[in-house]
Amino acid sequence: MKVLKFGGTSVGSPKSIKEVASIVSNIEGPKIVVLSAMSQTTNVLHQITDHIGNGAFDEAKEVIAMLIARYKDVVENLFESKEYTQQASAFVEERFDFIGSYAHEGSVDVIAAIERIIVAQGEILSTNLFTMYMNEIKSDVQLLSAFDFMRIDPKGEPDAAYITESLGEIIKANATTELFVTQGYICLSHDGEIDNLKRGGSDYSASLIGAAIAAEEIQIWTDIDGMHNNDPRYVDHTFSLKEISFDEAAELAYFGAKILHPQSVIPAKEKNIPVLLKDTFHPNSAGTIIKNCKVPNGVRAIAAKDGITVLKIKSYRMLMAYGFLKNIFEVFEKYKTAIDMVTTSEVAVSITIDDTSSLEDITRELESIGSVEVDTEQSIICLAGDFSHQQRGASTAIFDSLTNIPIRMISYGGSNYNVSLVVNTEHKIEALRALNKGVFKTASV
Ligand code: ASP
Ligand code: MG
Repeated sequence: MKVLKFGGTSVGSPKSIKEVASIVSNIEGPKIVVLSAMSQTTNVLHQITDHIGNGAFDEAKEVIAMLIARYKDVVENLFESKEYTQQASAFVEERFDFIGSYAHEGSVDVIAAIERIIVAQGEILSTNLFTMYMNEIKSDVQLLSAFDFMRIDPKGEPDAAYITESLGEIIKANATTELFVTQGYICLSHDGEIDNLKRGGSDYSASLIGAAIAAEEIQIWTDIDGMHNNDPRYVDHTFSLKEISFDEAAELAYFGAKILHPQSVIPAKEKNIPVLLKDTFHPNSAGTIIKNCKVPNGVRAIAAKDGITVLKIKSYRMLMAYGFLKNIFEVFEKYKTAIDMVTTSEVAVSITIDDTSSLEDITRELESIGSVEVDTEQSIICLAGDFSHQQRGASTAIFDSLTNIPIRMISYGGSNYNVSLVVNTEHKIEALRALNKGVFKTASV
């Protein structure tokens, strides 16, 4: 069985939904199709919840009206027959009435729970519309509710054993079904409430489903032809990599490559299931395959992640006292803030975070350990590849390229597959371009 996940832009218009239907129909064998919400939907659903949470019910209703207009338009242009147009239109109305039913005073105090219910509607809409469309074109398809098998544990981590068992049973009970459709992103919490796998989580759903059913392949269909060697938004002449390892993909996804949700590599890697990244709008281009493979030496790809904050903690005692690092890390742990990068010297430590929701508390507590400097608007530039062979020249090329760019932090040797740098975000694009020129000899071709 294969798992095919289509992202927001792939289901973002009637034309692209039809393209998805054709791609799905052309792939042989049994498959589970996992869909995101139509592009922008999740953002707009968040806006609606924000308005409701702020007691701005008229504004919430205005945004709901705008969103329903878009969906009505999609329905008009997607379906041919009156029967399906009516059915889909009634479904859309029913879902938006449901969302609108939360726009009142009683929601304000329980907005967190309501938010999860409202943002779940995006995937519920896309999968139902797609299923109706497949029915209209006489394709046999079975819609599965992610709530019947996708669950997270009390820590918010996917409950792999439960997912495997529940999905296994569903598939066994439908042994002749060739095509299942289900929602990405949404799930139930351990106590049965509607929840989700966090923004961009549909990739993660696809990978969890793939691992649960021991799929032969997981395909992630987006709007770019695979993982590029550099960020195509800022650098010309980037190219998609044919093949990358799970480790490289994980580093790149974590440090900024927008194409893939960072955690989504893990379940596939654990079960050794290849992940194919494909472009819905150019289905014939090869894309990128992520699998267990030997990585050539040197830099293979570069990605950048913005919104990074660097904290420098300088020990009051000048010499790095023992327990110093432990005390520092405990502060981050207390405020559940993940650290991305760390560099140390004898007297000071620099740490990067991207979640600044507890920055004030963290800084205050760190000040009892040492003096603290905070730099915001930094970017991590991640170079992925194989740096394990101590081959000469790889780091020289990196640093030679950056002669004119001030580097705030460097991390080398943490893993074999990554060299990371921190620069001020104002230098990011320049750094990406300089690195492109300096480390990819073929980049200008
Ligand atoms: N619809 C969700 C989001 O926009 C999940 C996803 O698309 O992966 O974050
Ligand atoms: Mg995505």
